Formats: sequence, structure tokens, C-alpha cells
Amino acid sequence: TVRVRFAPSPTGPLHAGGVRTALYNYLFARQQGGQMLLRIEDTDQNRYVPGAEAYILEALQWLGIQIDEGPQQGGPHAPYRQSERKEMYREYAERLISEGKAYYAFDTAEELDAMRKRLEAAKVAAAQYNAITRLEMSNSLTLSAEETKKRLESGDPYVIRMKIMPKEDVRFNDLIRGWVVVHSSQIDDKVLLKSDGMPTYHLANIVDDHLMGITHVIRGEEWLPSAPLHVLLYRYLGWESTMPQFAHLPLLLKPDGNGKLSKRDADLGGFPIFPLEWKDPFTGERARGFREEGYLPAATANFLALLGWNAGTEQEMFSMDELVKSFSFDRVHKAGARFDIQKAKWFNQQYLKQLDDDQVAGELGTIFQQRNIEVSAKQLAQIVHLLKDRVHFVHEIADESVFLFHAPEEYDQDVVVKKWNEEAVTAITGFKDALAEDTGDFAAEHIKHVLSGTMEKLGIKMGKVMQALRLAITGAGHGPDLMIIMEILGKTEVIARLETSLN
Ligand code: GLU
Repeated sequence: TVRVRFAPSPTGPLHAGGVRTALYNYLFARQQGGQMLLRIEDTDQNRYVPGAEAYILEALQWLGIQIDEGPQQGGPHAPYRQSERKEMYREYAERLISEGKAYYAFDTAEELDAMRKRLEAAKVAAAQYNAITRLEMSNSLTLSAEETKKRLESGDPYVIRMKIMPKEDVRFNDLIRGWVVVHSSQIDDKVLLKSDGMPTYHLANIVDDHLMGITHVIRGEEWLPSAPLHVLLYRYLGWESTMPQFAHLPLLLKPDGNGKLSKRDADLGGFPIFPLEWKDPFTGERARGFREEGYLPAATANFLALLGWNAGTEQEMFSMDELVKSFSFDRVHKAGARFDIQKAKWFNQQYLKQLDDDQVAGELGTIFQQRNIEVSAKQLAQIVHLLKDRVHFVHEIADESVFLFHAPEEYDQDVVVKKWNEEAVTAITGFKDALAEDTGDFAAEHIKHVLSGTMEKLGIKMGKVMQALRLAITGAGHGPDLMIIMEILGKTEVIARLETSLN
């Protein structure tokens, strides 16, 4: 069965790219009837950020991505935090040493620095620890067995490096990119075990994917350069026959398509790239997320799913179930996907329209409460009905209904110039008087009836004065259904506003 994993490092909030990786893993796992694991890759103590793991869990949950095995759920391969698996990795590094596929390296930071300088001076493209340079360094391949033993026993700091054999072809068939072939001379002797005894990402990642029975590694393109090394590690560890398949997902690009999407884009562009709000535990800085901006989880997931994938049809709206059914690696693009926040807004609008009015009213009520605006349940329902189809977010309903709670203090001058004329004044005066005398139920239909009756009596065409009337009531020349607005305002308020406008 298919087993995939999402393997974030808890170094900060998940950003859109990370969430999309998690989402594609989830879609594929569900489609194949497989399992999805969450593995926390926290072997780099220096980059550990408190709170990041909890954030990741909450973000996945918010989006509707369900994890089958992980630090919270447990599972047959627990623990799922690499820091808690620390002891397991050394064994594999030492096994590679005993088989001549890895070695101890004792170089000090100064020695490594000297090598780098020497190679740079010689204009070698990239300073690498490899088959050639390793011969000059202090490691167990150049030291005698005795000397090596002595150093180990005396507690000299060391790392364990992989011994990359020259002249090997490394190849794998990426599910998105096709065949990738790299020559081993381009790979350096990567550190597998660090001097603090912790494994590097490479070792821990491969050991865990193997032990956890991972069948597909689905991750961002930034890991593509590491993949050949990973293939070699599988080979050296004797696990090549059960090596997972790789799928490297396209980068997310800045909205203008120039370069990789970064946290700065959120800062500068004012749009969210994180699923949830993030408060940096070190600096206290806050970045708002999709959730806080008012995006619905389903809209966010739909938007993210289409960053780098499409169904090959015109369909854009996909529920999670539909995504699970339609997803395929064939239709994941190789080219980077532009992060277009306008598209995200559009999705939110579509999902908002589909929401139950009651549900929207509930959320709107909370927003009004936060803003200290009192509204009755009936008014809430009316406001939702009035504005739901005109906005992208629930909070916009609150923004756009401000005029319901405050009589206009100014009137749109353009409309005044064009539409406020004698005929308008006559019509509005007539309508105001008719309302004052009317005893019917002050509801949209009836108000319309009173208005058209008045206009007929006055011999004025409704169309000619509607904008002026709207101006008198809301201060603006455009907006939602005016009859419903009047119903919400109530008769006393409508008459008061009409009077003010006539003075
Ligand atoms: N820990 C890596 C990350 O933070 C995982 C990469 C992978 O999926 O192999 O992205």
C-alpha cells in the first residue's frame, strides 16, 4: 500500500509551499487508499523554533488534512520526532563505515576553511569534500588505523562522511520530471553524522523513510538537488530495491512571476502566505495567515491545490473529495506556479456564496460583536441576504454595512452633480410624505409598492430618481438592493435620512 509522509522541520510557520506539499501528499494517499505520516525533522538544534510543531499540526487540521500516523496520533513506527529517534541513526552510519562506504573525518573548522580557500584560489567551481580533496584532509581514509583509533578514543571531535565512489551514474525516475541522471563526481562527501552525534537531514530522512515503509516521497523542488545523494544512500545501505518513488513539486513564484515566493512577499504585498497567524517567539513579530484574513479552509485548500496542478478540464472548484479523485502526478507542472492572491480571493467568494446564510450570520455576528456593534438576529439575517453575494469575505459584509449603522455624513459629489435635481427633490419629498402616512408592514416589497405608487402620482419615472434616493439614504450612488436596505433601517431612520438629505 501507498505510504507517504510530510516531513517538515519545525523551524518556523508553514508557508504556502509547505502546505501545498502536505496537501498533495494527503490527496495522493487518500486516492490510493494509503496512509499519510507526519514526521517532525528536528535534528538541527540550532534551527529549532518553539511553537512551530504545534503550529504545523493546527494548520494541517484547519485545512482538513488528516494525518494517519504522527507525533499526536502515534503509530507502529513511533516515535515520529527525529530528535526522539536519535540513537537509531548512528548504527547505520557505523555500518556504512564498516563496509567502507563512509568514514570518520576529524578536520577542524580551520582546516576546512583552509581547503575552501585553497580551492577557491585554484578556481575550482565549488569547494567540495570529495574523492580528490579528501586525500589531503584528516580522516580515517588518510590516517592509519591506529591513529584513527587513538583519535576516537581521546574524544577528538569528528563527523561521519559518506564516501562517494567516483564514476557512478545516479539515476531515478521522478514522477513529475521524468529521468534525472547525475554523475557521482558532482556529489560531495556529505556529512551523515554531526559532531554532536545528531544525524544530518540526509541520513535521518533516508533511514526513516526506509524504516517507516515510505513508498512515495512527495516534496518541494528545492530538494531535487539532494535526491541523487539520497539515491546513493539507498544504494550504499542496500535498500535500493525498496527505494521510494520521488515526486518533486514545482516552486511557488512571487505574484509577478519573478523569483521564489518568500516571507517578504507577504510583508510587502500585505497578503497571507501562511495558513494561520504566526507570532515569532524570538522577535514577537506577527504575520497574519489565511485564517485571520477570513479565508475559508476549503477555499484555501482549493486555491493551493491548483498551484501547480490542474484537472485538464475547465473545472476550478474542487471539494477535498473531488481533489482526491482527480489528483494525478501527470498533471502536476514542472514550471513554477505563480502565487496569485486575487485567485485566492475569487475562490473564497465562490465558497462564501455556497455557505448557508445561517452560518454566515453566525460568523458575522461575532465580527459585529468584536466591533461593538449591536445587531438583532433578524438584522443579521437581512444583512447577510443583502451582501453575501457581493463580497469576498465575511468581514467585508461588516465593512460594507457600516452605512446601515451610521447615517451618511457626506454624499458622493459626482452623483449629487448628476442626479440631484428638482425632479429628485420632488420625488424624495413625495416619497417621504407617503411613508409617513403609510401604515403597511415596512418590508421591501411593500416599500417598493409605496415608492412606485408615489412616482406614478407625481408622473416621475422611477429610474430617473433611484440614484438620488439611494444617495439620500446611503450617501453613495451604488450599492446593494435599496428596498432591503430601507427595510433593515426601519421606517423612522429612513424618514430621518430623507429629511436630512432635503435640508
Ligand atoms: N525536513 C525537510 C523539510 O523541511 C523534508 C524534505 C523532504 O521531504 O525530504 O522540507
